[in-house]
Amino acid sequence: MAKIQMKTPLVEMDGDEMTRVLWKMIKDTLILPYVDLKSEYYDLGLPHRDETNDQVTIDSAMATKKYGVAVKCATITPNAARMPEYGLKEMWKSPNGTIRALLDGTVFRAPILVEGINPYIPGWKKPITIARHAYGDVYKNTEMTVPAGCKAELVVTDSEGNETRQLIHDFATSGIIQGLHNIDASIESFARACMNYALDQKQDLWFATKDTISKKYDHRFKDIFAEIYEAEYKEKFEAAGIEYFYTLIDDAVARVIRSEGGYIWACKNYDGDVMSDMVATAFGSLSMMTSVLVSPDGVYEYEAAHGTVQRHYYKYLKGERTSTNPVATIFAWSGAFRKRGELDGLPELCAYADKLERATIQTIEEGVMSGDLAALSTIPGKKAVSTEEFMAAIGERLDALMA
Ligand code: NAP
Ligand code: MG
Repeated sequence: MAKIQMKTPLVEMDGDEMTRVLWKMIKDTLILPYVDLKSEYYDLGLPHRDETNDQVTIDSAMATKKYGVAVKCATITPNAARMPEYGLKEMWKSPNGTIRALLDGTVFRAPILVEGINPYIPGWKKPITIARHAYGDVYKNTEMTVPAGCKAELVVTDSEGNETRQLIHDFATSGIIQGLHNIDASIESFARACMNYALDQKQDLWFATKDTISKKYDHRFKDIFAEIYEAEYKEKFEAAGIEYFYTLIDDAVARVIRSEGGYIWACKNYDGDVMSDMVATAFGSLSMMTSVLVSPDGVYEYEAAHGTVQRHYYKYLKGERTSTNPVATIFAWSGAFRKRGELDGLPELCAYADKLERATIQTIEEGVMSGDLAALSTIPGKKAVSTEEFMAAIGERLDALMA
């Protein structure tokens, strides 16, 4: 069988620990037999990030800007314990943070649904994708404790030194204050990334804030979204048959629970932090969450939402049996191939991506799965297999679909 040809390379970002092991297995078993893989390879494994003083992370982000589509393996974000483990020169920053900042991107997280793994909310039939604004608010706050008898004010000084003041509170007794900010340009990028992704996925977009209480701050988010929608997206949304829907955050939370899923939920930074953990847990398993970073100018980086599965890696190094779930990493690859195929007009590459996903889901629905899924699945006769066996079982089904 002739291998599927590609036109433009994918930006391939390799990573760390057990997911690095999965990465190679996925390429060897599920990709290279079928696709004449064109990729520009960047090794974001921690040893190579350290060797290059993290330049490789920056280079990989620039390559993503150039080519438009990347696929990324999970990577270690170093902490104190990693310094001696890897003999690091510095406690390098999170690669995801670096890449997100360079691409000015928004992260969309969506669960992979399979039969037998039932969401805790029985009405949820389709994925709910959460988009989290990744700049500002409480994550860039300034806070103070305030002793009794103090007056706290907001002071804005313009370039000529003129001050505008507003009383926050006259503290008769002691208390606390917090200063938050956001930037119009960042909110605009977020709005465009969400609207582009909604068009890409042909799904409705929901957005919610607390604008009834926060009449300037949250209202600004609401207004920017509305202005950008009216000026740039309304016609495209109508042509695609999708809707932009704004409501209050409390109403949104209630509607999400009652919904059947199948839309994108754009969240302010804190709401996205909290709600993505809730939605991920309610759908069943973190190892079944995909993640895609989308920039406002339409650059895509696909990855799994989970980390490097360190505990499994140490077992693997000792030669012990592991049962690690490769599904979200496989879907990162399939997402990237599908996008590359769409951009380059390669229907065969898109069809391969669909089959890779179908083979993976079919394997689980036929009862063959990793231990984390077997613990959740209601499929009769389910079998928890090793990492290698799971990969081989997916490979067999893919082979049949590709024949
Ligand atoms: P983790 O790698 O997500 O794993 C936490 C636990 O979740 C695992 O020990 C395992 O539970 C379960 N799990 C996660 N993914 C799984 C999979 N694919 N198959 C089976 N079980 C899975 O999180 P972590 O251990 O907190 O972090 C490890 C490293 O990953 C850290 O260095 C962190 O910086 C990095 N990280 C990277 C990213 C990223 O690159 N996007 C994201 C998060 C974390 P059991 O042990 O109970 O089996
Ligand atoms: Mg969180």
